[in-house]
Parts: sequence; structure tokens; C-alpha cells
Amino acid sequence: MIIVLKPHATEAEIAQIIKMIESFGLAAHISKGTERTIIGAIGDERALQERPLEAFPFVENVLPVLKPYKLASREFRPEGSVVNVDGVLVGGRRVVVMAGPCAVEGREILLETARLIKDAGGHILRGGAYKPRTSPYSFQGLGEEGLKYLAEARQDTGLPIVTELMDTREASVVYECADLIQIGARNMQNFKLLKEVGCRRKPVLLKRGMSSTVKELLLAAEYITSEGNYDVILCERGIRTFEDATRNTLDLSAVPLIKRLSHLPVVVDPSHGTGKWDLVSPMALAAVAAGADGIMVEVHPRPEEALSDGPQALLPSTFAKLMDDLSRVAQAVGRTL
Ligand code: PEP
Ligand code: MN
Repeated sequence: MIIVLKPHATEAEIAQIIKMIESFGLAAHISKGTERTIIGAIGDERALQERPLEAFPFVENVLPVLKPYKLASREFRPEGSVVNVDGVLVGGRRVVVMAGPCAVEGREILLETARLIKDAGGHILRGGAYKPRTSPYSFQGLGEEGLKYLAEARQDTGLPIVTELMDTREASVVYECADLIQIGARNMQNFKLLKEVGCRRKPVLLKRGMSSTVKELLLAAEYITSEGNYDVILCERGIRTFEDATRNTLDLSAVPLIKRLSHLPVVVDPSHGTGKWDLVSPMALAAVAAGADGIMVEVHPRPEEALSDGPQALLPSTFAKLMDDLSRVAQAVGRTL
């Protein structure tokens, strides 16, 4: 950490800062210029980062050197992490495709969709049983009944299941059915929920909050890893900007950025990222070209009848075409599908 003092800071003030640095087990290196003094705090500065050194009237600026997250950082595992979702490896050479309806709407339609996804080559079945809807009057999901259908679809197709956990009170039923626990964008900073999934042993898909920075996403992941669960997959799903032509602004630059900052696998959700079905395939291809370890897309056999997110759902035939195109892009960037 570099601490820049204001011009004319007194010797007593400099001594006060040095004492504080040393009390955290760090060494202080002092550089005195003609105008101002700069102090370098050498060692693991994270504990010191908690102290608001800017609150001292003689401190001008504090520049951290270490990242505030530790277990989620690339330095922790330079080789990168591979997360095993019931045999499907996320973060390896293979690009992983998670697909399915926004919400589980019924038994037959879920089984029909799951089979179509399996036939097209999808790897993981998605579907929400508990839905975080903006309006309390919108379809809220089938709850436990939906989980039952997901378990049946898993049995029928062999596809592992990813589904959202919204509330710690539903953890035991969701954990019984899901192979990958989704934490939705709206709950990215629900710290109690993050600690709950951190204490348990199943992998977690952590979606970026719609108004969250990459740093906040990585700190949310740190909540999970610091409880002992390192099986975290990060998901870029678009952020809110001034642009309203699309549902969100899909931040694809976050993919190579997170890959540099963190060892955790990254997937991209262009369905929620764009909100428009005809933009989903191009952005899914771009995501893989940018280095994503996988994609998550919404698929519905009759989007016009969907109970949620119909406008962004791919028809099964469009999904099958996307799988073809994805395999070529994957190959072009040294990966497989
Ligand atoms: C979802 O994937 O079902 C979902 C609600 O997405 P998000 O949390 O990204 O809005
Ligand atoms: Mn949706």
C-alpha cells in the first residue's frame, strides 16, 4: 500500500502513520521528497485496508497494491480452476452449454425441452423453480413441484441441473435436486445466502449483479470461497446502463478481465444480457471468442406462450444451429464443444 501524505505533514504525523503500519505487522518504507512524503507499507496489507487512513487530515491519498479478494484471485491458483458439475467440467478445454427454459412451467413441457436440448448437444439443463420476478403479480415459479420435474428431467436425459436458490429457507429442497446452485443477479450481494452456499459442498453459479462492478462480483465470490467452497463459476449476464435498446448491456470485456484477475471459470448469459432472442446467438459466439468457459441460454419450444422471458427465448431449432456455430468458434480459439 502506498500512502501519500499532504505537503508539510509534520514528523509527529509521519511517526503516527508508521506506528499504525507496524502495528499491523507491515514494514514502513519512507520516501521524503522536497514537497511531500510517501510511505510504502510492505507486507500483506489487507488488514490495513480496513482502516480508513484517508480519515487522517494529513493523508492525501491511499493506493492499495494487493487486491481485496484473496481466494478468488488468479494468484491463488495461477493455473485456473476446473469446476466439476456432476461430471461436466467447467473451466477446462470444453466450452460448456447450459440451456433450458427461464422457468419450469410444467412436467411435459420441461421434459420436451430437456430432450430437445440433450439432442442438440447441450451439457447442463437450466430452469427456475423459484423465480425472482420484478412484479409480485408475475408468475413466481412452481417451487417444490418445479424441482420435482427438474429431477425427473435429469433422470430422463442424464443432464445435470442448474437452478436458482433464492432463500436460505429453501436450501435443503433445492440442494436435493440441483447439481449446480444458481445465485441470481438480484442476490449477488445477499451475504447470508453466499455464506450458506459457501458452507455446502455443491458447486455454485454466481451471477453478476445488474449494478455490480467486477470487483464486487469477485468479493461476492470471496464470501463463498472463504467459507471453504472453491467450486464457484462466475456468470456475466449484463449490467444496467443508459442504453435501453437492449434489456441490459452485456459486458463481454468482463470475460478476459475476470480471467486475468481470477482463477474461477466464467460463463456468459446472453439471454438476460440482451433480452432479445435474435441477439442471443451472436453474443454467445462472441462470448466464446472472448474466452468464456461456457454459456447459459434460455430455450423454449413455444416462446410466445412462455410464462417468463419469452422475448429472449431461443426456439429449439435456433439453439441447434447455435450449437453448430459454437463448435466452429470454439475450435477457432483452441477449444472444443
Ligand atoms: C435466471 O437466470 O433465471 C435469472 C433470473 O437471471 P438473472 O439473475 O441474471 O436475472
Ligand atoms: Mn429468465
